[in-house]
Amino acid sequence: MNQNVNALIDQMTLEEKAGMCSGLDFWHLKGVERLGIPSIMVTDGPHGLRKQDTSADHLGLFDSVPATCFPSAAGMASSWNRSLIERVGAALGEECQAEGVGVLLGPGANIKRSPLCGRNFEYFSEDPYHSSQMAAHHIKGVQSQGVGTSLKHFAVNNQEHRRMSVDAVVDERTLREIYLASFEEAVKQAQPWTVMSSYNKVNGEYASESKRLLTDILKDEWGFEGFVVSDWGAVNERADAVAAGLELEMPASHGAGEKKVIEAVQNGTLPEEVLDRAVKRILQIIFKVAAHQKNNASYDQEAHHQLARETARESMVLLQNDGILPLAKSSKVAVIGEFAQKPRYQGGGSSHIKPTKLENIFEEIAKEAEAVYARGYDVMSDEVDALLLEEAQQAAASADTALLFVGLPDRYESEGYDRKHLHLPANHTALIQAVAAVQKNVVVVLSNGAPVEMPWLGQVSAVLEGYLGGQALGGAIADLLFGAVSPSGKLAETFPQKLSHNPSHLNFPGEGDKVEYKEGLFVGYRYYDKKQIEPLFPFGFGLSYTAFAYSDLQVDKKELLDTDTVTVTMKVKNTGKMAGQEVVQLYVRDRESTVIRPEKELKGFEKVNLEPGEEATVTFTLGKRAFAYYNTDLADWHVETGDFSLLIGSSSADILLEETVHVTSTVPVVKRVHRNTTVGDVLHYPAAKAFVEKATAGSPFSLPEESAEENDMMAAMMKYLPLRALIAFTGNAVSEAEMNEFIDELNVSLQEKAVQK
Ligand code: BGC
Repeated sequence: MNQNVNALIDQMTLEEKAGMCSGLDFWHLKGVERLGIPSIMVTDGPHGLRKQDTSADHLGLFDSVPATCFPSAAGMASSWNRSLIERVGAALGEECQAEGVGVLLGPGANIKRSPLCGRNFEYFSEDPYHSSQMAAHHIKGVQSQGVGTSLKHFAVNNQEHRRMSVDAVVDERTLREIYLASFEEAVKQAQPWTVMSSYNKVNGEYASESKRLLTDILKDEWGFEGFVVSDWGAVNERADAVAAGLELEMPASHGAGEKKVIEAVQNGTLPEEVLDRAVKRILQIIFKVAAHQKNNASYDQEAHHQLARETARESMVLLQNDGILPLAKSSKVAVIGEFAQKPRYQGGGSSHIKPTKLENIFEEIAKEAEAVYARGYDVMSDEVDALLLEEAQQAAASADTALLFVGLPDRYESEGYDRKHLHLPANHTALIQAVAAVQKNVVVVLSNGAPVEMPWLGQVSAVLEGYLGGQALGGAIADLLFGAVSPSGKLAETFPQKLSHNPSHLNFPGEGDKVEYKEGLFVGYRYYDKKQIEPLFPFGFGLSYTAFAYSDLQVDKKELLDTDTVTVTMKVKNTGKMAGQEVVQLYVRDRESTVIRPEKELKGFEKVNLEPGEEATVTFTLGKRAFAYYNTDLADWHVETGDFSLLIGSSSADILLEETVHVTSTVPVVKRVHRNTTVGDVLHYPAAKAFVEKATAGSPFSLPEESAEENDMMAAMMKYLPLRALIAFTGNAVSEAEMNEFIDELNVSLQEKAVQK
């Protein structure tokens, strides 16, 4: 194909080539009829297809064709189920084929830095390993159907506030370990056909104009083979963006973008080879799409609806249960809250779709048990309505159990803006309190895309976090509440007790057009762990109706090089009475480090399905990246030689098994010694010890031999003395020349030793 593409480019005029790099309209790329280049269609979004009329806008105000609405990413991520996500991806791919769509605009792999971000429902996790795994499998699924994806929004797009102008200022190590890592594995493992660059700036430069992000890192370092498309309207200066590696501008700029590209080529500021390279990448994907496009494809709507129900069941997280759940079918329930009739099942903005059908929660529950309904609140308002509360109390008092459907209405969270707080609407909170006053059996089912504070937690028996459950949420909720299946979702984000506990709190959403990521690496559980702040619900947490026992942690080697892999196995057994799935999590802790590191980091997880009494062996393979941090001096990932704990847990806060391995670095970092190096930093080298002893012999600074208190104090003070100070403080026992000679010799011997290793 490359040859044909090159031959085509040779035949294209400058105008045609520049034209290829901007869209035809809102959803199509340009074709060139005379050369047989077809025009392909791209469409939102991550959890359902939003194919609109070409004339329509892109913010969900107009109709789109009916498509299956799966749970949004926040929910899907809580399933921790790679193969399930892949099946959802495949179903989305089939729907794209049926609608003639060549590229689906998703998934989103931005990190949930703050729970306030209005778009968190579309993102997977606060943890980069988890997020990149989910994204990779979503991509694999869609692309298995011969349809491309667009991994978005690259990069550091973690808020909606001023999203088109804000500059996200983030240090290099944090950028690599958290924000880019969330994309990196997905690119390397799943090779999305396109990547979407984000609206914002990163460290002073528009992401869409960042050669470093789009070319050096994404393409050269990670090996991305497809093309980069701008987020809709994210291009600042078109020619600069082409030069940086942004191949396609979307949507159409009606000639403006191509004019700038043509001028830049003509006046020599944009080499034509760079434009040719961009066109080549675009053409390769266009022809890939065309080659895979199926004519007359269709899909089984009912099967996809059932898949949406299965996904919703695995996406929901049981946060609290005093034993009330699962409910007996013989019980009488009061279903309260307008969400039970008008469910909140998807988020707002470009991912908003028209479902093929929509389940009514009340009706699904009424299939399982005797049920009465009370509205409880007006979904369109926050106002507490005394009459609705009274009706709710009456319904609750007349039943064995009250099921409360509350959460965040559409207006609370959406693409385009962030929340200001983590509260439920006042009328939802008032409803919980009013019902809890008359009924001791209260089950709260939440519909929301991101965490809320729960001051009422102590007043209710159970809480099911439903996230935005997609079109089949009603049946999924009924399945879980009545125990047709055991809940198996676990949180892919920390729920804080209150907003002010969140690590970004002091610096979100920033000042004017600048937001500084001052919390650095300490995002999500990395922060709560280190600060020892107990969250409301920790990362990785979720309850089940059955119980699991963890045992027999084994490693295939206790000592390894950073170029080796270690295989970790453990056993998990269902010791309860019901079939269920468990998400086993593996975290790694660097026991001792010269750099600041989180307490532990997620490096593996597996979800296992077990019948009562059944046991399974879970296997993890860990390579260098599981132990490494990003070393900014080396500009590479680096493992410090030492012991690492492997922690196996059922959540980040419930570690059940632990083992230690020793990893030896094959890339020792040699720090050059100089006259301002401290005594403490070199004293462990015998040559240095001898030199210091000579320099301080007989002086008050002589190295202490015993561990008497003064000696300890002297040793502590010596530790931070720069080498140069030895000359003056010791009355010139060694000369400047002797010191320089010693330093040179030490550097030579350290370098030699490093090379020998
Ligand atoms: C969103 C993207 C979306 C695009 C097209 C933008 O506003 O940020 O996620 O894919 O519109 O609808």
